[in-house]
Amino acid sequence: MHRRFDPKAHHQVTIRREVRIEGIGLHSGKPATLTLKPALPNTGIVFVRRDLEKPVAIPATFEFVTQTRLATTLGRDGVTISTVEHLLSALKLLGVDNALVEVDGPEVPIMDGSAALFCDAILSAGFFDQSVARKVAVLKKRIEVRKGDKIALIEPSNRLQIKAKIEWAHPAIGTQELSYTLGKSDFREVSKARTFGFLKDVEALKKAGLVQGGSYENAIVLDETRVVNPEGLRYSDEFVRHKVLDAIGDFALSPIPIIGNVTLVKAGHEIHAELVQSIFSNPENYEVKTLDEIESPVDSPIAVGQRVLKSARVLQGSF
Ligand SMILES: [Zn+2]
Repeated sequence: MHRRFDPKAHHQVTIRREVRIEGIGLHSGKPATLTLKPALPNTGIVFVRRDLEKPVAIPATFEFVTQTRLATTLGRDGVTISTVEHLLSALKLLGVDNALVEVDGPEVPIMDGSAALFCDAILSAGFFDQSVARKVAVLKKRIEVRKGDKIALIEPSNRLQIKAKIEWAHPAIGTQELSYTLGKSDFREVSKARTFGFLKDVEALKKAGLVQGGSYENAIVLDETRVVNPEGLRYSDEFVRHKVLDAIGDFALSPIPIIGNVTLVKAGHEIHAELVQSIFSNPENYEVKTLDEIESPVDSPIAVGQRVLKSARVLQGSF
């Protein structure tokens, strides 16, 4: 069925058909697969553990975050799903509001440590305009979370813009800054940026039975002075790009998509989650509106989808 739609209206979007993604779990090192399925308007992103006798559904919202060390883990009734952030980021980057994510175990596959392969899968599934207005949480005031020298703050705006800065006393990282606007910037500015870790930490984690699937195939690995991966970096400032990718995935844990100008300094999963939590802890902090009501300058999700699909065809094979 092909419905007519207004490409300028900010409607909710789901994927057009289901798509399966296979990889390995970062912690288990064992095969992990997931299936993305279309979902009804106002569903949001919901994970489902299909391997259990009684499948458990876990909505991707901050109330269900159980852990933010190394990666973001969601849990409900003692059942968990970890490493959700890069998949959530891919869905947000491409403007998908509603989807079911069925997983066959406790981990989303790590893939190459970025969101690139998830983006490929979503693009191959295509987009479906749901003819229902997309609602957002519009901030009424500035909200800030500080932890030592880490800062995460958001100020009112009619779009979601993330400005991130990292400062790392490592010769291969140093100070890096990036600004990204959802619905305006090109998703490929951040989608291929990989997660990173230090050789000494990786060895300790492996001994502790964690990151059994971790390798040069799914992370940038650094020793004391340089990047160890033989192929080097994908972007000269890949580290801050990955931070932005993570932040988009973590902000996707909002029960209603947040818009505002975000500033992040030396931030990570934990402080991102705390910012989302403080926004939604008080209903006085925001108003729920449609993107059309606030005359948002960002492109409609379906316009983003159309642009992406067009460019994806042109650039096919470049990932
Ligand atoms: Zn990450």
